[in-house]
Amino acid sequence: MSGLKELQGNKQKVIEVGLEFLHGVGADYICKVCIPNGGSCCTGCRSLINEVGCQERNTSCTAWLCGFLKYIFYEAGLIVGWEKFWIQVPGRAYREDFTPDYFTVRNWLDTPKIRFLSEAFAEDLKELQPYNNLFWMHEMKETLDRYIDNLLEFTDPEIRRKNEKELKYLTKDFRRFHLAIEQL
Ligand code: SF4
Ligand code: SF4
Repeated sequence: MSGLKELQGNKQKVIEVGLEFLHGVGADYICKVCIPNGGSCCTGCRSLINEVGCQERNTSCTAWLCGFLKYIFYEAGLIVGWEKFWIQVPGRAYREDFTPDYFTVRNWLDTPKIRFLSEAFAEDLKELQPYNNLFWMHEMKETLDRYIDNLLEFTDPEIRRKNEKELKYLTKDFRRFHLAIEQL
């Protein structure tokens, strides 16, 4: 590939690269537990067809990480690279995009091979989800989201220490996940 082509981004290509990356992380394992328990991030979207899936795959939804995925990416050391990749992609909006067909991409992503990590997390999630409590999944996802955002945003060592401590406590029962992360 010539140097010029390497810099040439293509909307379909970045979506493909993003989806491959998510597959390499094993995101689908977690979605399979989240969706039947009422946690789907696609609920109410006009592009969603029941039992069929998304009809309008776009750069925005591909780039977006829910709290569960943000946590996995953070712990696996992938979140900064992921954000740096998507920051190059213009026109991202809510559940749709205005991304042009061609644009410049300087940093591409290499697909990781850490599906075992999300598989372990999904197993823990399934086990820990209390019977008949639809709010638990939502609450867990939102709290993880908040902690990771804080850790990415704040550099103050005291705030970070407090956040790390709370995050550790929140996830203390994700036993399989913690064992899996030691294998990274
Ligand atoms: S919220 Fe996260 S885990 Fe749930 S369906 Fe969406 S991407 Fe998957
Ligand atoms: S456009 Fe986004 S929110 Fe809507 S169904 Fe597709 S992935 Fe889900």
